[in-house]
Amino acid sequence: MHAATLNPPRAERGSSHFALPQGIDCAVSCRDINVRFFTDRRSVTAIEGLSLDIASGEFLTLLGPSGCGKSTFLRVVADLVKPSRGSINVLGSAPQAARERRDIGFVFQDAALLPWRTAIENVALPLEVANGRARAGRATPRELLELVGLKGREDAFPHEMSGGMRQRVAIARALVCDPKVLLMDEPFGALDEITRDRLNEELRRVWKELGLTTLFVTHSIYEAAFLGQRVLMLAANPGRVKEIIPVDLPEDRTLDIRETREFVELTARLRRVLETC
Ligand code: ADP
Ligand code: MG
Repeated sequence: MHAATLNPPRAERGSSHFALPQGIDCAVSCRDINVRFFTDRRSVTAIEGLSLDIASGEFLTLLGPSGCGKSTFLRVVADLVKPSRGSINVLGSAPQAARERRDIGFVFQDAALLPWRTAIENVALPLEVANGRARAGRATPRELLELVGLKGREDAFPHEMSGGMRQRVAIARALVCDPKVLLMDEPFGALDEITRDRLNEELRRVWKELGLTTLFVTHSIYEAAFLGQRVLMLAANPGRVKEIIPVDLPEDRTLDIRETREFVELTARLRRVLETC
C-alpha cells in the first residue's frame, strides 16, 4: 500500500489523527492504552493514552528517546505485557488470541540463537516448539534462509556467522510460523553501519514480498525514514504519542534515496520533533 493512501490530506481524514481513513484494513488498533509498572517503591507510567490504528501491510517505524515506551508498546501488541487500561485489537482479536494463532513474529536486538544449532535448525525451532500446532508456513526454513540472503549457509553455526548474518537468521526464524505481524525492536542497533544499510534495503524487499504489517523500533532517524511509510514519534515521561509523520518517499527505495532533497527534509523534520520529545 502506498504511503499516500495511509496519509491522505488532513481535510479528508476522520475526526481523530490516530484513525485510518475509511476503507483501509486495520491490523492493529489501540484505544487509550495505559501501561503502568509497579516496582518496590514506585510506579512508572510507561505508556499513557496511546491511540493508534496501524494498517494491514503497513511499515510503521517507531522513534523516540530512551524510556519512551517503544519496547513496551511492541510487548503489548505481542501479548507479553497487558495494558493497565484501554483496548487493543490485533488482527480482529485480543493480542492473546493473535499470539496463540502465531500471527506475531518478534525480532530483538540480540539474535539469541541457540549456539549448538545450525542456521537452519535455529530457523526451524519455533516449528518444533509448536509441535505440530503451528500453521505450516508458506515458506520452509530453507526458503526463508534464501529469502534473507543466506542460501548456502544453512549449516553454519552461530559462532561462524557475523552479527548481520545472525540477525538474518533471527528474521527467518521470526517468519517461520507465517506471521501476519512482524515486530522488530532495534534489530540492527548493534550492527556496523554498512551492514545495517544492507539489511535495511533487504528488509524493505522482504516486507514488500511478504506483505507483512511491520512495526520497527529504532534510534536512528535515517533508518526510521528509510524504512517506514509512517513514523510514530513517542515522547517520554510518560510515554505518549508526540506525532505521526507520513513518509512521502517513493515505495521503491534504494539507499541512494537518502541523498534526495525529500529525504534530507524529512530527516530534518524528524530531528526537530525528536528534540522536543
Ligand atoms: P524504550 O524501549 O522506549 O527505551 P521501554 O518500553 O523499555 O522504553 O520502557 C518504558 C518505561 O517503562 C521506562 O521508564 C522503563 O524503565 C519502564 N519499564 C519497562 N519495562 C518495565 C518493567 N518490566 N518493570 C518496570 N518498569 C519497566
Ligand atoms: Mg527499548
